[in-house]
Amino acid sequence: MAKNNDELFKNVISHAKEYGFVFQSSEIYDGLSAVYDYGQLGAELKNNIKTYWWKAMVQMNENIVGIDSAIFMHPKIWKASGHVDGFNDPMIDNKDSKKRYRADQLLEDKISRYEKDGKTDKAEKLQHDMDEALKAEDLPRLKALIEEHEIVCPVSGTRNWTDVRQFNLMFSTQMGAMADGSDEVYLRPETAQGIFVNFLNVQKSGRMKIPFGIAQIGKAFRNEVIARQFIMRMREFEQMEMQFFVRPGTEMEWYKHWKETRLKWHLALGTSPDKYRFHDHSKLAHYANAAVDIEFEFPFGFKEVEGIHSRTDFDLSQHQEFSGKKMQFFDPEINQNYVPYVIETSIGLDRFFLLTLINSFEEQDLSTADKQDSRSVLHLHPALAPYKAAVLPLTKKDGLPEKAREIMNRLKLDFNMAYDEKDSIGKRYRRQDAIGTPFCITVDHQSLEDNTVTIRHRDSMEQERVAIDELENMIAKLVSWKNILS
Ligand code: ATP
Repeated sequence: MAKNNDELFKNVISHAKEYGFVFQSSEIYDGLSAVYDYGQLGAELKNNIKTYWWKAMVQMNENIVGIDSAIFMHPKIWKASGHVDGFNDPMIDNKDSKKRYRADQLLEDKISRYEKDGKTDKAEKLQHDMDEALKAEDLPRLKALIEEHEIVCPVSGTRNWTDVRQFNLMFSTQMGAMADGSDEVYLRPETAQGIFVNFLNVQKSGRMKIPFGIAQIGKAFRNEVIARQFIMRMREFEQMEMQFFVRPGTEMEWYKHWKETRLKWHLALGTSPDKYRFHDHSKLAHYANAAVDIEFEFPFGFKEVEGIHSRTDFDLSQHQEFSGKKMQFFDPEINQNYVPYVIETSIGLDRFFLLTLINSFEEQDLSTADKQDSRSVLHLHPALAPYKAAVLPLTKKDGLPEKAREIMNRLKLDFNMAYDEKDSIGKRYRRQDAIGTPFCITVDHQSLEDNTVTIRHRDSMEQERVAIDELENMIAKLVSWKNILS
């Protein structure tokens, strides 16, 4: 059993690998730092999370539509958005260990340590000084704070630091055959700009009226200075973003609406509200007039999973200026043209995947007075589970596999099903528990006589006898999105 948070996190990571959820990228070549592959079950879970988001955002809202824009975009877009000049992290190197750190993260770690030690005044003062330095982009001041607070490199233990420098997080590459830099393009660091530059296309072709939203799920790339904590901070990751276009002056109402709506989305899966909190940004990005993070309590503390940002008309105005094309909407209700304001909801798919694994993972002690026993379970919501049910013939003979296959064939078009006839039934139940399969359907000798099977429920481990003819309806009801989204 996991004794503490570090151990719980380590166990989740090894569980994810052992059962085919997440692998280190390029593992046989010793891996590629902060890049991961999703395995056979990870891909299923990830797809189900995407479906949950898409249904909640696009399908349930008549005024939100979804798009799928390209990763490569015209380089001017990133100039207009501010990413070429401003998408930087302040970094610092330790000269002894040669390790590189984000200066703000070293300071944040120190703040957490002060808080843990009950030194609230020191924590607040440092937070304030750091925010001021970041706002003013005062890099020497950041270094001074690191020195004043006697922060040491966790590897070398020394305070032999370089100056703080800005480091742009965008990856670039060449498009076409020119290698002189004239055809430099970027891998997008966020999916949002693909939405902004298609604002008019979607508005016109979809005859959308404000307020309306455009949603998108897709890859984003950031050359993170330091990447750590498994799939929490990756260099290639996926975002699920929605930009909601509103009439100027109404943005604060919509900001409140989306803040509440998005938290509800997280909680609808049954997660305890104690695990979540809002964190208002004290330092707003230059384009925002309000911003909040939805944070989840990971084993390594409360961390951002999703951001809700009131982005004003910054992005559309910038694209209007840089492209020379009008990015306006004629609002018939007030008889006016304007550049819409935007509320953005932006969630990291991989971070939510990690949250889901951590939140559902349990190592249960099932020991009795006479016998030691335990199991690992993923208490995934049935709608998210990679397999909806597993069909298990009790033995490999007497026609049981044939009967089990009949059931598989009836169900597998509607549900992603597992089939397993290896090992004892107990071991097979444990295997399905470990990958989060909510129901096991056991085919035994009685099944041949009266067309009934046993359904075993993952969480309670209780069993009930049901008619094979009822299976389809029963599973459909238990895994339905209606249980979460209505
Ligand atoms: P952080 O402060 O953690 O770097 P951010 O504020 O830069 O995140 P946003 O630009 O608001 O993040 O991106 C929206 C969401 O995308 C985040 O809430 C997070 O879930 C996800 N995300 C951002 N960077 C990464 C990354 N490197 N790896 C995985 N997910 C990420």
